[in-house]
Amino acid sequence: MPESFDVIVIGAGPGGYVCAIRAAQLGLKVACVEKRATLGGTCLNVGCIPSKALLQSSEHFEEARHKLADHGVLFDGVKLDLAKMQARKGEVVAANVKGVEFLFKKNKVTWLKGAARIVAPGKVEVAGETYDAKNVVIATGSESTPLRGVEVDETQVVTSTGALELPAVPGHLVVIGGGVIGLELGSVWRRLGAEVTVIEYLDRLVPGMDNEIAKLLERTLGKQGLRFKLKSKVTGATKSADGVTLTVEPAAGGAAEEVKADVVLLAIGRRPHTEGLGLAEAGVEMDERGRVKTDAHFATNVPGIWAIGDVIAGAMLAHKAEDEGVALAEILAGQKGHVNYAAIPGVIYTWPEVASVGATEEELKAAGVAYKSGKFPFTANGRARAMGDMDGFVKILADAKTDRVLGAHMLGPDVGTLIAEISLAIEFGASAEDVARTCHAHPTLNEVVKEAALAVDGRALHI
Ligand SMILES: Cc1cc2nc3c(=O)[nH]c(=O)nc-3n(C[C@H](O)[C@H](O)[C@H](O)COP(=O)(O)OP(=O)(O)OC[C@H]3O[C@@H](n4cnc5c(N)ncnc54)[C@H](O)[C@@H]3O)c2cc1C
Repeated sequence: MPESFDVIVIGAGPGGYVCAIRAAQLGLKVACVEKRATLGGTCLNVGCIPSKALLQSSEHFEEARHKLADHGVLFDGVKLDLAKMQARKGEVVAANVKGVEFLFKKNKVTWLKGAARIVAPGKVEVAGETYDAKNVVIATGSESTPLRGVEVDETQVVTSTGALELPAVPGHLVVIGGGVIGLELGSVWRRLGAEVTVIEYLDRLVPGMDNEIAKLLERTLGKQGLRFKLKSKVTGATKSADGVTLTVEPAAGGAAEEVKADVVLLAIGRRPHTEGLGLAEAGVEMDERGRVKTDAHFATNVPGIWAIGDVIAGAMLAHKAEDEGVALAEILAGQKGHVNYAAIPGVIYTWPEVASVGATEEELKAAGVAYKSGKFPFTANGRARAMGDMDGFVKILADAKTDRVLGAHMLGPDVGTLIAEISLAIEFGASAEDVARTCHAHPTLNEVVKEAALAVDGRALHI
């Protein structure tokens, strides 16, 4: 007789594996189904972790070639060993995915290997066996969105997965899509020596992010050598032995032109992954964008079937999936799980980095919320100057009446780490004055956050 479980989680990405571990910690009998050969989902295998490994390695290469001489560190000749860089990335991924396997064993989560299908509410089929579960959690994540006329072969036309595995630096990489993944992977290959052109449909990069930051990001990456073709749409791709020819038209319509590339990275977004799960047969409702529809507590319309992570509405981010996993596990254990969506940061791991949490100025204006803004540049920070990393600023937005922090938007060195302070401030309902009166060590980049908080009240000290 196959085993029965309190919870079967389908998908072992950051949403699923974290949900499984938390549910097991709370005393539930848990299995997690994963069809990939390793645990960790998109994030650990082909997403966050391998991309950050290559971003780190390529930034070291960039520093050695172009930045360290300013610090008096001279090299005779800097060479790239791409095979070694890729092998290191593989080791980083392997260590991380093994780590999840260890956590499953430690917490007594059963890993059911294979593709899961929900055959009826409370019944999940994996590799020919049907398992019973009081609760089934869909955490099947997302996949790269296709584009009509641009056929992916993961060699000449790649998704992010192929772009993480290129065996040689392309002469010209064309990235379709000026979102986070396109800019991060475009940066990796630009640093390693490729010419990189980013083609974007809209008139700006990173839609949804603060406008001022998006413009500065475009300028900053432009200075580094990335080329941008905005307000343009790719309508076709023709492959030949010497590359790919893209047909590109103005987004508003007009004459088409050709753009030649050695490799094309298709990065126009990600779509929910629900194929083969049997959701229609189980009667699970989906929304207009193919995402599993849930209420505010991750319940679908079918009792006992829940969903979290990239497969439901909201930001497609690993930490959002994780927080939902924890909240749902707690709900399933009879507790009051909750996710504060106003305090979920978003980071772009270019260098300098971009980080953002809470409302943007555009959102506050649209909602008619009166707010104050405080800004402070990295040029006026001693540590940034010592590092030689002075691009960018921190902007904090606070309620005009109550001074409560509503959002923060940053571009600069290591702002992906600095943003945590503002997430915490929002979570605690802190005011900009609370942040400003908190002692920040000197000399640190964090002082830019403090000064921006002081600037909300017009009293920054070091500018
Ligand atoms: C290149 C890239 C870089 C990224 N960088 C970042 C970053 O820096 N920070 C960040 O926050 N986010 C990043 N993301 C996004 C992040 O990876 C996702 O938001 C996150 O992985 C979503 O987690 P999840 O658990 O919902 O789904 P996933 O991680 O997609 O995991 C779902 C798992 O379910 C499995 N599965 C699907 N169907 C079945 C089935 N029927 N049976 C069994 N198993 C199944 C899949 O094999 C997969 O392993 C990046 C994504 C990409 C592609």
